[in-house]
Amino acid sequence: MIDLASLSPEEILAFLLENYDKKEAIRPFFGDEIFRWIHSRWEYDTSRYSNIPKRLRDFLSNETFLPKISAKYRLISRDRSEKLGVELKDGEIVETVYIPFRNRATVCVSSQVGCRFGCSFCQTAKMGFRRSLSPSEIVSQVYLFLKEGNRVTHVVFMGMGEPLDNYENVIKAVKILNNPLGLGISIRRITLSTVGLLPGIKRLINEGMQINLALSLHDPIPEERQRLVPAEGRHPIKKLLPLLMEYYRRTSRQVTFEYVVIEGINDTPRHSRQLTRIVEGLDYKLNLIPLNIPGMDRKTWHRNKAVVLQFKEMCLNAGLKNVTIRLSRGVDISGACGLLAGRNRRDSNQRR
Ligand code: SAH
Repeated sequence: MIDLASLSPEEILAFLLENYDKKEAIRPFFGDEIFRWIHSRWEYDTSRYSNIPKRLRDFLSNETFLPKISAKYRLISRDRSEKLGVELKDGEIVETVYIPFRNRATVCVSSQVGCRFGCSFCQTAKMGFRRSLSPSEIVSQVYLFLKEGNRVTHVVFMGMGEPLDNYENVIKAVKILNNPLGLGISIRRITLSTVGLLPGIKRLINEGMQINLALSLHDPIPEERQRLVPAEGRHPIKKLLPLLMEYYRRTSRQVTFEYVVIEGINDTPRHSRQLTRIVEGLDYKLNLIPLNIPGMDRKTWHRNKAVVLQFKEMCLNAGLKNVTIRLSRGVDISGACGLLAGRNRRDSNQRR
C-alpha cells in the first residue's frame, strides 16, 4: 500500500499510470486533482473525490492509504500559542506547536519521534529515538491547524527530532508545502533547524532551495560544545562553517545561529569573543534562547531571561551585530524550545 499524501502530483500520476488497469481512463490532470484534494482541501477520504471516476476512487481506497493522524491532546498557553499531541497511525505521539505572533502564524513541526542526538539540555533527547516521520505525517501536522480555521504563514522544523537525520522525507514535505496546488507556502518562510549534520548540509547546498537554515550552535568552543551537543564529535563546527559559508553563497539566505544561554557554562566573555570568529564573513543572526527547564518556576524563568540579556550585552560589546533574543512562547504548556516530548494517555484533553 502506498501513502498517497507523501507523493507529488507527478508521482501520483506516475503511480496511477503504472498500477491502474484501465490506463486510458487516466487523464493527465488527475495527479494535480488528487494532490489538491489532499493538500488543499485536506480531504483524506478518497471516496469523496467527486471529479475522479468512481472506479478509480475505488482503486484508490483499496490500493492506497492516507495517514490518519489526530490530535490526542491539546494545551493552550496564556500567550495564545497552542500545542497538540498528535497520534500517528502506529500509536506513536509527536508534538506540534502553533505560534501566532503579530501578523505571523508559525507551525513548529516534528520530523521524528524522539531524537538520536542527545543534546544535554533537550527533553526530546531524553525519549531516545523511535522513528522518522513520513512526508505526509509532517505536512499533516500543519493541516491540523489549518483545518481548525487558523492561518499559517511560516513553518519551522524545530519540533521533535533532527530534520537532517530524516533528510529525504523532510525535503519532500517542504516541496509539498511549497506546491501551489496545496498550501503554496514560500520556501523562504520555511526554516530548518539542525545540530549541523555535515552530509545533510552538503545535500542542502545542492538542492537549490532558499530554505532558511538555523544551526544549533550553543557554544563556539569545540570541546565545550561537545558536552552540550554531542553531535560535535562527528560533525565539528570547524567543518561546518565552510559549508555554511557555501550555503550562504548559493542561497543568499541569512544563516541563524541558535544559542541556548546557560549560566556559568556558555555565557562568558571568552564565548562572546569566540563567537565573533565563528560568524566572520557570514550574513548571520545570533538568536539567543533562554534555557527552558520542564516545570521551572517563575523565578528560574526570569533568572534565565536575565542571563540572556546579560550575554546579549556581552556579545554586542564583543562586536557582534545581529543579536536577537527568542523569547520562547508556550513555556507554560511545555511547548517551548526543547520541551517537546510525547506524553501518555493520562494527559489527554488536558487544558489550561
Ligand atoms: N534537532 C534540531 C531541531 C530542534 S530545534 C536542532 O537541534 O536544531 C529546537 C531548538 O531548541 C534547538 O536549537 C535546540 O537546541 C533548542 N533547545 C533544546 N532544548 C532547549 C531548552 N531546554 N531550552 C531552550 N532551547 C532548547
